Amino acid sequence: MSSKRCEGIGVSPGVVSGRAVVVERGVGDVPERLLEPNDIEAEVTRFDQAIDAVRSELGSVERRAGREVGEELARIFDAQKLILDDRSFVETIRSRIRDDRRNAEAAVRDVANGLQARFARIDDSYLRDRGADIETLATHLLRILLGQEALRLDHLEESVVVVAHDLSPAETATLDREHVLGFVTDAGGRTSHTAIMARSMEIPAVVGTHDATLHVQTGDRVILDGAEGVMIVNPSAEIEAEYEQKRSAYEDRESVLAAMREELAETPDGLRITLQANLESVRELEGAHRHGATGIGLYRSEFLYLRADGELPDEEAHFEEYRAILQEMGPAQVTIRTMDLGGEKSLPTALRAAGDNSLLGLRGIRRSLHDADIFAVQLRGLIRASAYGNLRIVLPFVTELAEVLEARKCIDAVAADLRQSGVAFDEDIPIGAMLEVPAASLIVEQLSDHVDFFSVGTNDLIQYLLAVDRTNDAVADLYEPLHPGVLRVLNAIATTAREREIPLCLCGEVAADPLTAMVMIGLGYEDLSMAPGSIPVIKNLVRHLPGGDARRIAREALALRTAAEVEEFALAELMAHLPDDFSVAG
Ligand code: PEP
Ligand code: MG
Repeated sequence: MSSKRCEGIGVSPGVVSGRAVVVERGVGDVPERLLEPNDIEAEVTRFDQAIDAVRSELGSVERRAGREVGEELARIFDAQKLILDDRSFVETIRSRIRDDRRNAEAAVRDVANGLQARFARIDDSYLRDRGADIETLATHLLRILLGQEALRLDHLEESVVVVAHDLSPAETATLDREHVLGFVTDAGGRTSHTAIMARSMEIPAVVGTHDATLHVQTGDRVILDGAEGVMIVNPSAEIEAEYEQKRSAYEDRESVLAAMREELAETPDGLRITLQANLESVRELEGAHRHGATGIGLYRSEFLYLRADGELPDEEAHFEEYRAILQEMGPAQVTIRTMDLGGEKSLPTALRAAGDNSLLGLRGIRRSLHDADIFAVQLRGLIRASAYGNLRIVLPFVTELAEVLEARKCIDAVAADLRQSGVAFDEDIPIGAMLEVPAASLIVEQLSDHVDFFSVGTNDLIQYLLAVDRTNDAVADLYEPLHPGVLRVLNAIATTAREREIPLCLCGEVAADPLTAMVMIGLGYEDLSMAPGSIPVIKNLVRHLPGGDARRIAREALALRTAAEVEEFALAELMAHLPDDFSVAG
């Protein structure tokens, strides 16, 4: 059997090997029958039993997900439960069985197809995308009716490498960590939230292979290298031996890095770099401690909102979550971002009416200001929690100064209210703005008078500067963090923030890759925040890279004309400063 090499984007390091499980989305052909009148009621009962079975399976998946990744993420499955409880969906299928004498499978298929066609015609992109929830549910129902075993990625019997066309952030969050050795997808980019979750969960992963699912079958033996970004299907003995060596070198590297936990992130010429953790869930705090994060540079609070449709986290839910993080981190700085639902992160029903949450839509601070009451609930939770630690609040997706001023008014109003009620809180919570919209990055000077710090969100900033969708594998090659245009904007931000003496944190994925982190440090980014597992490899970089060299590298990079030139130059510099094994992203 000849081996096949599939290349993609290595987004979460580690070398693993095992049997592949290919995630099939469809259920194949659906049988159609005209029912005999006497069989109709039995068919309706069979359908009702399938509904009960789906409801109970969803409940147990949700409970398991709750244990693995927290309740907020687990509520993602509620969209499907809501459809199950919707009389128009279930009753329409029942009447298809009774009136048209269709078998249950055919009735489910007909009704789901009809609904999806109607959703596909809707203008609102959020609602249009809900057609996918109907398809997921219909597939689940059909599997049960057809007696097919569903592939349960959240509860696997043996250790496998998952190969899928795509995994949503929610599916990634609920992967069975004990048995999923790693995953490979056709779709996705380095900064998609699926990739971000893989790094947070420390599961080796390769995304953006375009067609890996075409080259592998369930049961094939595969090797996955999450740093190199390759999957090898049916490897020869020689290749197995080669990757076995890589695996053991990777493990050696990890133990060398782990031993640096207590070391300072200081360059050989004495420049101190702050290395903080990005979190999506309070559960990831353990990794942040284990890898030596000195604070939380970005807590993505929108994951709290991925709750039951029609419900929103109340003040207590916000307060409890934030207090837990602040208490756990003690005196260390914790930066919590107000919610930024957008792009591939779905939106609860209660927030939908006002518009979509697409990449250029009503997201981040725009939505918070639009729904001031909902914003106030989050702010009350945040401000109350400030009494328990060292909190900073950062506003996402800021585009202009007026948004910061208005958000500050909301914060002041909530603080005044709490003060009047005698609630204790920190009177000087630093308020910052994310710089991730190109226009905001061009008015740093104007924003400086009204914020206490900036957080540079390069994932989005690069996406919008280059007009390249960060989740789309077809344009993943065009997502170039070292594009001269990106470097100029990042240089201008750092220069102005330095002149204005405004603290600056960089929390996009460029902070986690030694190649780009080296250039960022040279540009003046000395506070970096990343997935916890990436901290050791960046600390190692810092300890080998004199600050003076970094500044020279950034200066020379700024003089180059193309992304390819910058990359080639930066790679040579990185190699000159670091031994081979330590130059890949952690
Ligand atoms: C960013 O855009 O760089 C960022 C840190 O936020 P997110 O990845 O959640 O969009
Ligand atoms: Mg962002």
